[in-house]
Parts: sequence; C-alpha cells; structure tokens
Amino acid sequence: MDGFESASAVTDAIVADIANHLGRSKISYQDQKILITGGAGFLGSYICEVLVAQGARKVICYDNLSSGLKENLEGLRDKENFVFQVRDATEPYDPGEHVDVVMHMASRASPFEFAHFPIQIWRSNTIGTMCGLEVARKYGATFFYSSTSEVYGDPDAGHVPTPETYWGHANPNGPRSCYDESKRAGEAVVKAYELEHKVDARIARIFNTYGPRIRGGPLFGRVVPNFIEEAMLGKPISVFGDGKQTRSFTFISDEVEGLLRLANPAMIQARGEVINIGNNKEDTVEDLARLVIEMTGSKSELRYSPLPKDDPVRRCPVLEKAKRLLDWQPRTPLREGLEYTIPWFRFTLLA
Ligand code: UDP
Repeated sequence: MDGFESASAVTDAIVADIANHLGRSKISYQDQKILITGGAGFLGSYICEVLVAQGARKVICYDNLSSGLKENLEGLRDKENFVFQVRDATEPYDPGEHVDVVMHMASRASPFEFAHFPIQIWRSNTIGTMCGLEVARKYGATFFYSSTSEVYGDPDAGHVPTPETYWGHANPNGPRSCYDESKRAGEAVVKAYELEHKVDARIARIFNTYGPRIRGGPLFGRVVPNFIEEAMLGKPISVFGDGKQTRSFTFISDEVEGLLRLANPAMIQARGEVINIGNNKEDTVEDLARLVIEMTGSKSELRYSPLPKDDPVRRCPVLEKAKRLLDWQPRTPLREGLEYTIPWFRFTLLA
C-alpha cells in the first residue's frame, strides 16, 4: 500500500495511468481546445491534468471554488497550455475563441451539501448546463454533460443493475431532489439543444467515484473519505442505516478514462448518447467499512445511525453500452483503489 513519497506522487501516478490507457487506445485531445467548468473539483482536476498531459492546445478551466480547490491544480500552474479563471458557470460566459469541447463538470455532489446549497446546486445543473450549451452551439463544439446515477433515484426492485433505458424513480420534492431532479432537468436541456441546434452532445451517468482528492469532512464528506478519516483518527465509523445498502464504487482513474473516451469528438459513435460510467461490482456500505478498518489497521468500531431520507437502497450500473460504444470497462477493484486512496489521506489528513 505504501511506496509513495508524497500526496502528489499518488495523484501523478493516477494521471499517468489514465493518459497511458487513453494513449494506448489512440484516444487523444492533442491540439484541441477544451473548456471545462468545475475544473478544480475532484473529477475536473484530473480531467485538466490528463488533457494537459495529452498535449491539448489549450485547457480553459473555470471554477468558482465553492467545492473545488485551487490546490488540486497546483501541478498545472506553470503549464503554458493551461488557463484557470475563478468563474461561476451559472453566469453566461464566452471564452472569446473557438473551443473544440465544452465539459460541464461544475456541481456540488455530496448529500450533506444538498441541505445547505440546494439552490446553487439547482442552478449549476440547469442554468449552468444551458450556459455551456450556448458556448458549444456558438463554436460548434462537442458538449459533455456530467450527469449521475442519481437520475435513477432509488430504482424499483428489478431495475438493479440499471441500464440507461430506465427512466428512474426519484422524489421530485425531497431532500435529494435539488440534485436528482436538476441533473434530470440538465439532461433534458441537453436533449433540447440537440433537437433544436443539433449540438453534438454526450451525457455520462457517473456512479459513486472515490480516490485521492475526494473531499472529506462534515460538509463535503462522502462515504469513502468519511470512513477513511474516521478509521485513521480512531473514531467510530459512522454507518447510516443497517449498512446493507449498496453502492458501486468506481476508482477515479477508471471514471476519468471513461469520461474522456465519451467526450472525445472523434468518438462519433458516442454522439447523442447517454452512457453509464461506473463500476458494476456492488458492495454494501458495511463491507466498505470493514475493508477500510482492515486496510488502515484501525481499531475503530462501527456505529450505526438512522438512514437519511430517500437514501437509495441499491445502486449498480449495466455497463454494456460503455463497453460496446467506448470499449471501456472499469479495471480497478475496490481494494486496489483504496491502496491509492488511503496513502493519499495519510499524507493530507495526518500531515
Ligand atoms: N453513508 C454512511 N456514512 C457516511 C456517509 C454516507 O453510511 O458517513 C452512506 C449513505 O447513507 C449512502 C452511502 O453511504 O447509503 C453512500 O453515501 P455517499 O454520501 O457517499 O453518496 P450517495 O451515494 O448517497 O450519493
């Protein structure tokens, strides 16, 4: 598990791995100009780094730093083909030059944030999506939208694993609806621009992604960083509900590789498609807790508390479409992904 000398050595290894795999499949962004919103976030920062590593002509990164972090872009500071601007992607924008791809990644994503910033989340996924689509329309760019497995809500029994054809079972008026329903509305806006303006659009439905740089703590924490932090600090592991609910945990390198395959303009078979990008190995939250305890060598015990309202019971994608259209499937088992994630938290949390 160890063998890394610093937090940046861990993230550099991940970026190199993604760039390698894309390169081997001849998926390239060389000489392209890409505008990415939310580029300082967990997923967005890796995307920026891989694009720069691939020799993009210019990567224009916007982020309002509401949940993204400037330090995620530290390694790109001196790169000539990288530009960062603090900017809110829900205000109309225009890069003032041709771009080949617009990737709209900006949105808060943690269920704890849903309670504090529901309007901002709604704006990111609806108005923000329209702002990006306007730029794509103006410059004839490919538009990439980061949707989510949350559009499926809490799928009915019989619809897990879930294919892209499932219409979902989401509460339009609950604690998660600012996220679920705004992502659904975002998909609908993408469809509207496809129909009316013939924009080349691609939609990824992203499943629970984890890895170095994912934020922890009471506001941003998702289950993986929360459990790692609790285990490392010797605190009880906060399992919500009975811990039997499942998620399909996707390692960051697999996720970003899938997203960049889908967003690539040369992948014309992906034009107009909605594709699940996630892991199809389902794990219970309790299994995750035990694995984290084992791998961190922690003495923490599990502490159970009530399941949040509308928390989905099962989540797992059908990946046949990603395999067929993108020649992509996840490569990284949960234990292996944690072998990168846990050392990164050791460097950053215990520093
Ligand atoms: N969860 C948990 N403890 C935590 C955070 C989350 O047991 O400290 C559970 C949560 O109830 C859900 C699952 O872990 O069933 C995944 O939660 P997360 O916030 O990572 O993302 P979600 O999939 O709910 O958007």
